[in-house]
Amino acid sequence: MKSFTKSSDAYKEAVDLMPGGVNSPVRAFKSVGMSPIFMQSGKGSKMKDIDGNEYIDYVLSWGPLILGHADDRVVEKLKQVAEKGTSFGAPTLVENELAQLVIDRVPSIEMVRMVNSGTEATMSALRVARGYTGRDKILKFEGNYHGHGDSLLIKAGSGVATLGLPDSPGVPKSIAQNTITVPYNDLESTRYAFEQFGDDIAAVIVEPVSGNMGVVPPRNNFLQELRTITENNGTVLIFDEVMTGFRVDYHCAQGHFAVTPDMTCLGKVIGGGLPVGAYGGKREIMEKVAPTGTIYQAGTLSGNPLAMTAGIETLKALTNETYVEINKKVDQLVEGFTQAATKYNIPLHINRAGSMVGVFFTNEDVTNFATAQTSNLDYFSQYYKGMIEEGIFLPPSQFEGLFLSTAHTDEDIEKTINAIHTVFSKIK
Ligand code: PMP
Repeated sequence: MKSFTKSSDAYKEAVDLMPGGVNSPVRAFKSVGMSPIFMQSGKGSKMKDIDGNEYIDYVLSWGPLILGHADDRVVEKLKQVAEKGTSFGAPTLVENELAQLVIDRVPSIEMVRMVNSGTEATMSALRVARGYTGRDKILKFEGNYHGHGDSLLIKAGSGVATLGLPDSPGVPKSIAQNTITVPYNDLESTRYAFEQFGDDIAAVIVEPVSGNMGVVPPRNNFLQELRTITENNGTVLIFDEVMTGFRVDYHCAQGHFAVTPDMTCLGKVIGGGLPVGAYGGKREIMEKVAPTGTIYQAGTLSGNPLAMTAGIETLKALTNETYVEINKKVDQLVEGFTQAATKYNIPLHINRAGSMVGVFFTNEDVTNFATAQTSNLDYFSQYYKGMIEEGIFLPPSQFEGLFLSTAHTDEDIEKTINAIHTVFSKIK
């Protein structure tokens, strides 16, 4: 058995200092009945905790580390940049460079604004869509998570789903009433909402592949139809690609599914592990943002040189070929899961999109939040704890996906599949 003495001591100290001892709820391991594991270092696909236990990491800081931990190219450049100053509050060349890379690769983005997190990106994009259309309502999908902005913490996924807090206290009713929610992949409900409120809907915001109720890809031309519905109603279509951006494909989910939204939110991978978000879209819309336009949005550390540098080095390391390579490893892993489930008679449904993988302990086809909730959470918890013992670090919640990086080796995958067999053989 692994020892977690140091993590356990650190946690006792932390709970007095921070709510739940953590700075983000999903790190609390609450839903799997464990206490947090404190991490010390990472290199490539591996991560070490403060007790010296080593893990193959499939969380990757919840998505950003597509090159793995402490990639040499990223770290070297960060050292060089840090020595020249960490922030200036005036424009720098690295901002142009990352903006250009983003504009070149993301079909919908003609202009971009850098911010500091995914939450900031989605909150800002909504304000811009509302300012641009002069409308107040927005439509989002159940189980999609777009950060913790007031308008978006309604029937949200991720930590709020894990903790069963889909409608957070503290969001004023007057704001919540402007958010319409419908089930993911449900075009009929979406059309009905538009029949009722179409003229008032400023924006539809959607995860083009949902990654915050586990992984749930779009079905039956869902994204194409959303494009048509929003176009017909003068509504801004926003793809929240904070998770999918530069993860599912070189041209993001919108390139993969060949649907171009009006605006796109980014985060995670474009910061290469440093705090970054971005929103962008059609020039006509983005020019409404201050100082060109009158819609206000700003940030002391936005476009920070260290964050821009980590993003630039990460994007430069990603080519079309990279995605083919990662996807091959995902194929092997998914095959391993499926074989183990068959062998040990475990109900299992796997969804994937690129290197995002959702593992559900159910025989149902998982297409939305309701079907994601059919997963056996007791099985999930047993699987989770078993995998930790085997040295495999997974997101500690049923309602999150796991990720792979370019640093994961065939040997990592083999070890992981062996661990799955060991753990599935013991699930009761
Ligand atoms: N949108 C999506 C799709 C996300 O997955 C997340 C975070 N997991 C966010 C927005 C919020 O990003 P952040 O945590 O950086 O604020």
